[in-house]
This record gives sequence, C-alpha cells and structure tokens, in this order.
Amino acid sequence: MSNKRQITVARGDGIGPEIMDATLKILEYAGAEFEPEFIDIGEKVYLAGQSAGISDEAWESLRRTKVFLKSPITTPQGGGYKSLNVTIRKTLGLYANIRPNISYHPIIKTKHPDVDLVIVRENEEDLYAGIEHQQTPEVVQCLKLITRPGSEKIVRYAFEYAKKNNRKKVTCFTKDNIMKLSDGLFHKVFNEIAQEYPDIETDHWIIDIGIAKIADTPQEFDVIVMPNLYGDIASDVAAQILGSVGVAGSANIGDQCAMFEAIHGSAPDIAGKGIANPSGLLHGAIMMLVHIGQPKVAEKIHNAWLKTLEDGVYTGDIAKGGPSVGTNEFAEAVIARLGQVPTKFEPASYKEKSEGDDVKLEMSPLAKDRANRQIVQELDGVDVFVLNNEITADELGQKLEAIAGPELELAIITNRGVKVYPNGFPETFTTDHWRCRFHLSEGQSQLTNTDIMKLLQRVDEAGIQWIKIENLYKFNGERGYSLGQGQ
Ligand code: NAD
Repeated sequence: MSNKRQITVARGDGIGPEIMDATLKILEYAGAEFEPEFIDIGEKVYLAGQSAGISDEAWESLRRTKVFLKSPITTPQGGGYKSLNVTIRKTLGLYANIRPNISYHPIIKTKHPDVDLVIVRENEEDLYAGIEHQQTPEVVQCLKLITRPGSEKIVRYAFEYAKKNNRKKVTCFTKDNIMKLSDGLFHKVFNEIAQEYPDIETDHWIIDIGIAKIADTPQEFDVIVMPNLYGDIASDVAAQILGSVGVAGSANIGDQCAMFEAIHGSAPDIAGKGIANPSGLLHGAIMMLVHIGQPKVAEKIHNAWLKTLEDGVYTGDIAKGGPSVGTNEFAEAVIARLGQVPTKFEPASYKEKSEGDDVKLEMSPLAKDRANRQIVQELDGVDVFVLNNEITADELGQKLEAIAGPELELAIITNRGVKVYPNGFPETFTTDHWRCRFHLSEGQSQLTNTDIMKLLQRVDEAGIQWIKIENLYKFNGERGYSLGQGQ
C-alpha cells in the first residue's frame, strides 16, 4: 500500500462519471498526492434494492478515509427513496455546508461583477430532519427542529471561518418575526456568539428580504450563516445570478469527516453527451486539496482554471451559444495551463496549513456545561390535537370544557394555528385538524403527566379522536411554546 492519502470517490449518476473522470485527470496531472477508493452510490444501488442508496462497504470506506469526493447522484422519483445526500451529511455529522460564490465577470456574464460571498449553511437540522406525519385525512406535518448545540456549532463555524479567511462581516438570515422560538433561537445564538468576535461586523436580515438582497446587491455580503432550508435556497440563487450552476463547488464539513462536491445535480438532460462543465466538481476538489493539506496543488489547479477561462475556453453552459468545447477538451485545456497564472483575474492563493488553521470547534458551551446546567422544566399545560369533521368549533369547545377539569381548563382551540374558540369568526376556514390547548386550572399548583393521561382518557370516552399531544413547558419560568394566533 502506498503512503498517498486515501480518499473515497463516487462517480455518481448522469453527468457524474464524465465530470469525475475529467476532475481526477486534472488532479493527477497537477501532482495531487492521493489514492482514490471508488464506491458505488446512487441510482444503481437504490434500484438494486438498497433503499438508502449506499452499501455497507461504502460506509466502511467513508468512515476509514474520512474524505469523500462525490459526483452528483440521481434520487429516483417517488417510491419513498430518502435523499442519499441528506443521509450522508447527517450520518457522518457533516454539520457545515460551505458554498463560496464568486463572480468571474466578464468571462462568465453576470449583472454582479464584484461578488465574493460565502454561504455557511447548517446541514443537519431544520426541516431536513425529515420527520413528517400525516395526522388526519386533510393534514400533514413536517417537524422543524432547531437545536441550541446545532445552532452554536454552525454559527461558531461561520465566525471562525470568517476569522481564518480574513473576512470582515458575518450576516445571519432567519425568519424569527414568524418562528419566534425556532428561528428565534438561531438568531439569539448568533447574537451571543457574535460578542466573542468584536472585530467582525455583524448584521441580520429576515430571510425573504435577505434573499432578495442576494439577488439584487450580492456584493454587500461577505459570509452569511443560516438554517438548512434557507441556505439551500439562498445558495442556489447566489450561484444562478453569478452565471452558471456548473461552476460552484461545496464542502460539507464535520468534526471527523468531510465531503466535497459540485452544487449542481446529475443533469440527466445532457448526460453521456460529453458536454458537461466539470468546473463545479473541480472547485469541490480544490477545497478538498486544501482540506487534506495540499494547498499549493489546489492553487496551481485554480490558477490554471482561471487562465483557461481567460483564454476563452469554455463549456457550452458558459459559452451560451458561442464556440465551446466538451468536458474532456476543457480538462485538457486546464492541464495544458498548469503552472500558469491568470492576468485579468486575481490569482488564487492558498497558504500552507499551520498549526491551528483548521476550523476546529470547541465543544459548545451548552454541551460542555450539560451536567451542571440548572434549567427547571415545568409542565404548564398540554395541546391535544384532535381529528374532527363533524361538529363546529363551539360544539367541540363546549364538549371539551365539560371534561377538562378539575386539574385542567380549556384555554383555546385553534385550527391551522388561528383561534376558532372561544369567540371564533365564521370567516375563518377550518380543516379536520384541531389544536385544543389546556392549561393548569386556577388554584391548582402542579400538573403531572398522569393528569394529562387522565384528560386523554376523558377525551376518548367523550368520543373525540385525539391524534397527538404536545406538552407545554416553561423553562426557568419562561414560556417554551408559542401562543395561538388571536390568543
Ligand atoms: P441539475 O443541477 O442536475 O440540472 C439543472 C440544469 O443545469 C440542467 O439544465 C442541467 O443540464 C444544467 N447543468 C447542471 N450541471 C451542469 C454542468 N456541470 N454543466 C452544464 N450544465 C449543467 O438539477 P435537476 O435537473 O433539478 O436535478 C437532476 C437530478 O440531480 C435529480 O435526480 C436530483 O435529485 C439530483 N440532484 C443531485 C444533487 C447531488 O447529488 N448533490 C444535487 C441536486 C440535484
């Protein structure tokens, strides 16, 4: 066995094998020291009956090499296949998705010639926890999970990344005007951690105007950190306005493993034609070389790539109808320019790693302090969700009031979050899914799970079908649940 750094490589689906072959060839000619270990993932594996899209041997390779260069894969539509990308990110704890977005104007045409922004996307939580349920014939839910340790990790990563890369500003995007608890926690953690980096400027935008600003004035941003779903959308907007989805690469970083890829998909519409742009995967590979301690090779490739563009050699997605070359010819053109530097673009420069250069995070203060933490969690009530398509809100309310006590009293009924009892409006549209909120009765001092179980039994006996409950808690006396709209 050689001493070269082993990395796991997946050639993927669609255009994946073409762009991977081109990328590996460039790496080899540039003198990158690595040994690829190929695994099969994706469509072939799904269709062979592995519903996760990855085999045990592939996991074994990933856990051993800890570095993964991955081509895009095709997730078969329907059939309940889980996204393999999400599975890999979460299983290997790749909590940070780093997506640099840079303008290469005027060669890659864009209305925004001066952009150099990095999106740091939380990669494991949020709606991508993938916890979904159908609760009634009319209603499905997807649980949005935002955790304090997860938020602390990604926000700290963004600030450390900014510090190590001489970035001046870190911006946070959330929707905490609406999701006050979940996005509110992310924003709060951002404000807390920002205090530790007084030299870095910070700001916060509500996600909708934030993404609009990326589309309109992206040059105003430097590093932007955000929860998973927003990061997914914002980074595609950023890539698209800069001219081609075929160019940007991305790194998925965890405490132990890392995965590098292009941001685009498997492009089945052009697969097998030999015309795909390998640049997105090549940029992923450049980030990988920096990660495994070969920054000078990364620099050589990046500069040869910039020079290739400067010399007017493009694939079809960039040429946009003008003269273009195929995937292989493009790779050959980059190889021919290894050792050259661009004259119009700023040359790329990656410094040799020194001690402490990796963004290695301290354990979150919360996790560190878990044993000593004094948080009093007090049961304050319960939301009982019921299926009902027979009686009105008033009738349901009166029925529940009659069986609530003595420990509990009915506070409110909402439908899709808005109050319908007491004093609901006839204009409010309702579905078959009702949230009935009970609080501790006046004069009662303590509520227990047994009280809630007794309540559920009475609800059952009254012929009302409850479908789930959510306990309502206070944490150190502070309400840990949102009020109903109109409560
Ligand atoms: P896509 O990114 O594959 O393609 C969108 C458009 O961009 C297509 O017109 C395509 O031809 C073009 N394009 C993409 N990459 C290009 C390249 N390198 N060179 C030239 N043109 C390029 O997105 P899609 O069509 O929505 O998805 C296709 C498949 O890819 C789906 O199965 C999806 O699940 C999968 N996907 C995988 C990943 C991944 O593995 N990381 C990411 C996104 C989508």
